[in-house]
Amino acid sequence: MAPSHAPLPPGSTIGIVGGGQLGRMLALAAARLGFDVAVVAREGDSPAGRVAKCEIVAAYDDPDALARLAEISDVITFEFENVPGQALAALEARKVAVYPPGRALTVSQDRFFEKTFLNEHGLRTVPFAVIDGPDDLGPALARLGHPAVLKTRREGYDGKGQIWIDNAAAPGAAFEAIGGRPAILEGRAHFVRELSVIAARDVHGHVAVYPLSENHHEHGVLRRTIAPAEVSAATTEAARGMAITLMHALHYVGVVGVELFELADGALLVNEFAPRVHNTGHWTADGCEVDQFEQHIRAVAGWPLGPTAPLARVEMTNLLGEEVEQWADLAADPHARLWLYGKRDAAPGRKMGHVNRLSLLKV
Ligand code: AMP
Repeated sequence: MAPSHAPLPPGSTIGIVGGGQLGRMLALAAARLGFDVAVVAREGDSPAGRVAKCEIVAAYDDPDALARLAEISDVITFEFENVPGQALAALEARKVAVYPPGRALTVSQDRFFEKTFLNEHGLRTVPFAVIDGPDDLGPALARLGHPAVLKTRREGYDGKGQIWIDNAAAPGAAFEAIGGRPAILEGRAHFVRELSVIAARDVHGHVAVYPLSENHHEHGVLRRTIAPAEVSAATTEAARGMAITLMHALHYVGVVGVELFELADGALLVNEFAPRVHNTGHWTADGCEVDQFEQHIRAVAGWPLGPTAPLARVEMTNLLGEEVEQWADLAADPHARLWLYGKRDAAPGRKMGHVNRLSLLKV
């Protein structure tokens, strides 16, 4: 339905699809502004569900669960982008506003749609080719060169569903290794740094952009973010412009995370965007005036956006798997702000929490 632009009063309920740590931090921010939160989580006792007023345990495309969420919520949002298209359509057909708009999710869910959309709006990406079967790989590799990375079009994240192909690798085996699913082949970006920009747009089209962060990945998973990144004014302006172009093109409402590759000549390519709060924006919770979580809640609730100025330099480190056992030492470190997600099972590589280490802002 056409949403009202009137700000939601405190006491209203914000529905969140997804029960993970992003939902948990959104729920905490919502509570601070006086909202109640209802979540749909795939499993009970979820990180978000444990800090929400109501946890509906169901698959994300369960029509009854979504109907119930729509019934009790004044606005609905997401903490992850892989919500099935039908579920999204079912929610949007109900008498409740859904932000960010479904189009942002459907574009970002598919790497081919995403890169095509970005290029159509003047935002550069790595060169890419659609791979529907192993026979497409030969011509694509001939065009894009080695090494190149084969990624499933849908449902890949944190380095999953992707494989690098070098000269020696047999293309057919690579296609099998990603499950024989529709894919894209990407040329390698010769980046000097990975950056990201977190930005927000409100229901009236006003925007707010955070300082850039510099990101370090290990095995495709974010390990560390340093922010504000030391970048030139021109780079900041370029990244800002890219985020704003993207948000306006999608009629976006909420927080978006845009991952960038910085090339040796200073040019920026978009790697991908996430229509939600983002791991590389966790630093804002201890380093900025209004953090990405409150900003997202403000945007989807029709409130004015808050200021994004940095207050500290922050180094954010993800706590993966058993690293979370360091909590007592981290709690004793006066420079470390500790965020734990309350997950019961510290499986290897699982994001269990993060720590923001603060230092003086460089001026
Ligand atoms: P993604 O899941 O697409 O965000 O990829 C995870 C990480 O793999 C990125 O943050 C980069 O470090 C690396 N990566 C992905 N695609 C490329 C590419 N086309 N060229 C170089 N590095 C890449």
